Amino acid sequence: MNIVLYGPPGAGKGTQAIKIAEKYNFVHLSTGDIFRKNIKENTELGKLASSYMDHGELVPDEVTIKMLEDTANQYPDAKGIIFDGFPRTIAQAEALDAFLEREHGQKVDKTLSLEVENEELIRRLLERGKTSGRPDDADENIISNRIVEYNNKTAPLKNYYVQQGKFYKIEGVGGIDAIFERLAAEIE
Ligand code: ADP
Repeated sequence: MNIVLYGPPGAGKGTQAIKIAEKYNFVHLSTGDIFRKNIKENTELGKLASSYMDHGELVPDEVTIKMLEDTANQYPDAKGIIFDGFPRTIAQAEALDAFLEREHGQKVDKTLSLEVENEELIRRLLERGKTSGRPDDADENIISNRIVEYNNKTAPLKNYYVQQGKFYKIEGVGGIDAIFERLAAEIE
């Protein structure tokens, strides 16, 4: 089963993806986490990624797609994968479909969209910035830019998945467990 967790920055994708992976024994693939790991280890990929992430911009598709495919290939026997923060552009979504088909004869089963209003997102991100150590959460200008990037490049994905009948809206406000129950109901 291949699940895409979709939604703006601060919607709670990471928190919920961890819980889903745990409950269903799925592999959790977070492109943001993989980029941050590379930044920490000071790899070439990390240096490149941080030059975009520090401004709240998306990392270029080519780089992101290759990294995602390389990582996914490390789990040939995965029972399921939860994609967190990927795809974020139409090109990434098309690449993911092609990859799943080519390598595994599979497809994206469902895209679960965490729905949260803009004001609440900014509030959450600034709050997270106090403790996360993430430079992109600490500055309101960078946060705004991430939301602009989301609206320009990621929001169009909704239609991509709606057209395929795979798009499911999940109310992303409330307690972590309550939101998780809503996601789990859709997965089952
Ligand atoms: P959030 O969802 O809170 O923005 P992420 O950890 O998913 O946090 O992403 C952090 C940053 O990593 C993004 O602002 C972007 O620069 C980069 N990034 C993550 N995933 C992708 C992706 N699929 N395509 C391009 N850039 C990405």
